[in-house]
Amino acid sequence: MRVGFGYDSHRLVEGKDLVLCGVRIPSPLGLEGWSDADVAIHALIDALCGAASIGDIGTLFPPGDPAHRGISSRVMLEQVVATLSSRHIGIGNVDITVVIEEPRLSPYFTAMRSSLASVIGIPVERVSVKAKTNDGMGFIGRVEGAAAFAVVTVSDG
Ligand code: MG
Repeated sequence: MRVGFGYDSHRLVEGKDLVLCGVRIPSPLGLEGWSDADVAIHALIDALCGAASIGDIGTLFPPGDPAHRGISSRVMLEQVVATLSSRHIGIGNVDITVVIEEPRLSPYFTAMRSSLASVIGIPVERVSVKAKTNDGMGFIGRVEGAAAFAVVTVSDG
């Protein structure tokens, strides 16, 4: 078994959708980035890349590449899962923590977990999504941005 860890952060701005784990969440602010800026999936992709030792999201999907402008991070995740599969690496479980001051994410946990499970191709019981605020501190507390952490286990099959 191998473990991978990932982290990401993006700015919160007006005029963008807030998409987390592939789910669009009602919010006056959304995340800014070259893709759809799904900070949770980006952290997850980095965790998967780390577990498989295949670099990181920036090497696989270079920011500034017109091919990835506005791309759904679910599509990026699909590609990474396919890469692991081609190397006979199976994904055991996924645990994600999103750190965002607002909105409250708990009403969306079920949809977020189902979204990830369907892309990864593992049972939803093996996908965990949690959320924290930053208790008003720092850039997250000031609602300037959001961050996510992800841990995954994989096994060589
Ligand atoms: Mg990112």
